Parts: sequence; structure tokens; C-alpha cells
Amino acid sequence: MTHISPHPNSSSPSSSPQRFPVVVVGAGPAGLTVGNILRAASVDCVVLETETRTSIQQRPRAGVVEEWAVRGLEERGLADNLVQRAERHTVCEFRFEGRGYRFPYTELTGRRHFVYPQPLLVTDLVREYADVRGGDIRFGVRDVRLHDTDSDRPSVSYLCPETGERRLLHCDFVAGCDGARGVTRAGLPPGRARQARHDYGIGWLALLAEAPPSSDCVLFGVHDNGFAGHMPRSPEMTRYYLQCPPGDDPEKWPHERVWSELRQRLAAADAPPLIEGRLLEKRVLDMHDYVVEPMRFGRLFLAGDAAHLTAPIAAKGMNLALHDAFLLGDALAAYVTKGEESGLDGYSEACLRRVWDYQEFSQWLSEVYHGTASGDPFRAGTTLARLRRLFTSPVAAAAFAEQYLGTAERF
Ligand code: FAD
Repeated sequence: MTHISPHPNSSSPSSSPQRFPVVVVGAGPAGLTVGNILRAASVDCVVLETETRTSIQQRPRAGVVEEWAVRGLEERGLADNLVQRAERHTVCEFRFEGRGYRFPYTELTGRRHFVYPQPLLVTDLVREYADVRGGDIRFGVRDVRLHDTDSDRPSVSYLCPETGERRLLHCDFVAGCDGARGVTRAGLPPGRARQARHDYGIGWLALLAEAPPSSDCVLFGVHDNGFAGHMPRSPEMTRYYLQCPPGDDPEKWPHERVWSELRQRLAAADAPPLIEGRLLEKRVLDMHDYVVEPMRFGRLFLAGDAAHLTAPIAAKGMNLALHDAFLLGDALAAYVTKGEESGLDGYSEACLRRVWDYQEFSQWLSEVYHGTASGDPFRAGTTLARLRRLFTSPVAAAAFAEQYLGTAERF
């Protein structure tokens, strides 16, 4: 944590400090959900965001929301549009050895996936927080710094985009919800935080195609050339993934090459051809995970990608961010309004149990996706055995469905 020190230029605080019970850093799904829960409990807070409102409402990323997360948003009055507009998915399909195998997870669990693009969810959450619940949100802030989070009197400062002046906010708690590249995790006291990291050693070319989905469900292509994924996002938009070397240059993937690889890797007997379209987004993700433990340091609480990253292998990141935000928002509201400390005390452990469970599932699924393309015939053999077991063993299928949907009763 930095301490505010007098500085001759615009870094010194230049207007009288304000005071809030909670300062939330970051207006992604985690920060906005925490903010909304606090506003519903009439707890004053401010959300600081480096980007503009337009930019956060357009950033394409996640799409799959697990049913328990939808219910959590619903209970907090945050899911009206989602429930009205999201598509419900009940089945996914694995394609390997030239055939398609449909996996009916709703039949096995009674639960569904909701497909609702992250920009729509963020748009709903900002509108509810700022326009309906009257929350204070400051966009375009620069150089956010945390101060004295180990003490009972933490504060956060930032440079105001309009004036360039440093503004100081005193608070009781800081919610660090600023994602994978934010400042709150980077500012943890050295030696106090343990960061566990896993690199998969593979890349995914993440693509957003202006094309209707080519199937009614998510497709996982397990192929010797590498993994390919097909994720419906809306009637007009489909996300695709192609396994590629880590650090690969997206420019090496022109339109023709992308569609040719997708056709090969997602091929299955009797499947209709892929519907091609313009590629609106094309970027390489180096697949890795990390977890920061604990997620609380004094008066600073981390939530979402700021605390843990899950490679998009199992579509879990936003779901975990929402889970953290429900627990943190409820715990902060209970403390500020009723003095109850148990939620804050148990926060880190309650989040991390689900986080580690989801990380383990991502690792397991990564081997299923990538084993056949590893060049190692032994790994290819065990990968295909894992896949076949999902379609021959009801017990294996039930276990997979539970993890895929996050429906375990306890973690
Ligand atoms: P973010 O959404 O990253 O929000 C953090 C916010 O903080 C941002 O608005 C950022 O601008 C802001 N910020 C950053 N630095 C600062 C600072 N210094 N000060 C103030 N503000 C700051 N997850 C799923 O569950 N399902 C999926 O299907 C899925 N698909 C994905 C596909 C892709 C291609 C990617 C990249 C991710 C996917 N994820 C998915 C993961 C999901 O998008 C993230 O886990 C989710 O966005 C995390 O939410 P968050 O609020 O923690 O962080």
C-alpha cells in the first residue's frame, strides 16, 4: 500500500477528502454487483472505474451464467432483463473422431445454463446502480492508489479525469474488484499474500463472429489439430475458440485459415456446415489460472478476477466473480448496517472453496480439450478414454454435469 505523501505535481490530493463506508475499485460484474447490494441496503459507496461507461458496456467476454448465479442476481433484484432475454441451454455436444456426442446436462441435473453476453449484464448492472439506485460511480479515473488498508482508516486516491487533480476518499473498507490487470492485487503487502499460478502452455485464439450459431448448443471439438469451441452468444453472434501456440500472432489467422480450421476441428458426420461471418474480435489468450490467498488483507477485500483468474476453458470466471460479489456485498451490508462481522470473517474461505473446485475442473477439462493434440499418443489415448466414459458411464456423466453447472450442494 502506498502512503500519500506531499508531491509537487498533480499527484498530491488537492480537494477536501470525502468519506464513504466502502470504496469499490472496478466496475466489472463483481464491483457493480457489490455496489448494487450496498445501495439496496442504503450503504453509501463509490465505484471507481478507469474506463468510460460506453467502453465497459461494449467489452465482449463471457456469456455463460450458471443457474445458481442467475438466482443470486434475481434475489438481489438484478436479473430482470437477463431472465427475460437470456437463452436457456440444456445440452452441449462433444465432437471427436468425426462424430457428435450430445450431452444432456439438464436431464441429469435439472439445471440449465443461461447465455447472456457480459456487456448486456454490465449494462444492466450499471443502469441499476447509477440510474435506479442512485449510486456514485466515477468513470475514467486514473492512477488509482490504495493507502493504509492495513489500518482502521484506509483511503483510496485517484486522478480526476476532468481536472487532473488527485482526489482522496477515506473509507472503512475497500472492495478490490478491478480484474486481472488492476492495482488492488498488485498493491498487496509483500510476503502476506500467496499467489498460486498455473500455466497451461497453450493459447486460444478467441474469436467473435458476426454469424448466427451453427448449432443449438455449445460445441467442443477435440481434434488432432487442437481444440475448437463454438459458443452461441445471440441469434446474430457466435464466439469461437481455436487452440493455438501461446503468444501466437492473431494476424497469422486470416479469415480463410480460421474458418478452414474451425470446419476441420468441429467436423461431425451429418452435422450442418458452419455458418461463416465477419470476425469482429480476434485475440490470443495465453491460458493460465491464478489464485490469491487469502482474499482479505485488513480492510481490503478482493473479489472476482482481482483475486483469481480461471482460463475460459470451463466458462467459470464471471460466475466466480458473481459468487464473490454476493458474499462480499451481503457481508459488508450486514457489517455496516448491523455490526455483524461473521460474513466478513468467513468471506475468504467461503469464496476459495468454490474457486479451487472450479480450478480443478478447468484443469481436468483442459486435458479433455487438448490431450489429443499434445503429440503424445499416451495422452491422446487417455483423453479419448475420458471422453468415452462420459457417454458410457452414468456415474461419470453425473459427476461431469455437476461440475459443468456448478450445482454441488457443498464445496
Ligand atoms: P472485470 O470484468 O475484469 O472488471 C474489472 C473492472 O475494473 C474493469 O471494468 C476494468 O476496466 C476496471 N479496472 C481495471 N483496473 C482498474 C483500476 N486500476 N482502477 C479502477 N478500475 C480498474 N466467464 C464466465 O463465467 N463465463 C464465460 O463464458 C466466460 N467467457 C470468457 C471469454 C473470454 C474471451 C474471456 C477473456 C473471459 C471469459 N470469462 C467467462 C471470464 C469473465 O469475463 C471474467 O471472469 C469476469 O469479467 C470477471 O469479472 P470482474 O468483475 O472480476 O473483472
